Amino acid sequence: MVRLIISCMDYRLSQEVMNRVKDENDIIIRNAGANIYELKDRLKGINADEVVFLPHTDCAAMKLVNSAIKDGKDVDKEIDEKLVAQFRGKEFSSLQELEKLNAEIGEKMLKEIFPNAKITTELIDVNKIKIPQKKTRYYLLKPQTRYNDEIIGSYVIQAFDKEDVTADIKIAESLGLKLEKSELG
Ligand SMILES: [Zn+2]
Repeated sequence: MVRLIISCMDYRLSQEVMNRVKDENDIIIRNAGANIYELKDRLKGINADEVVFLPHTDCAAMKLVNSAIKDGKDVDKEIDEKLVAQFRGKEFSSLQELEKLNAEIGEKMLKEIFPNAKITTELIDVNKIKIPQKKTRYYLLKPQTRYNDEIIGSYVIQAFDKEDVTADIKIAESLGLKLEKSELG
């Protein structure tokens, strides 16, 4: 039984992610925006039985997409390719609509990648969860690492390989976050 939990690196979500872990072998993957598009090739190598997909509201990654597409703001080429481009030509007129679209597009891709898995999508409303004290730092963690009190309130990028999250590291740095600890290469 392989269970995947996929969410955003946002500092507010760590407890929510932990609340959904059922087994020590559950695989947690977190990047900027719970961005499935970037993960596609990596996910194809996993034989998942269940996927819990957790995008969220008030997402900094979606704000970046919104300002790149709606305001024409310059964005790093790699961030554009791996995050922004999938939303070009799609219809949305507000950040809220973009966040819903992100959940829909991500779920659709997950169904294609894992046609036989049980897929649960929950767009987490950050107004309805307990928010920890924000720490302006980020961790690069392996998929099976669980969080201690130091990690809660920090940003968490979680992946099999650092190569999978190079765009997300750029986004974390652009948010002014400092790397606290890396388990990835
Ligand atoms: Zn986010």
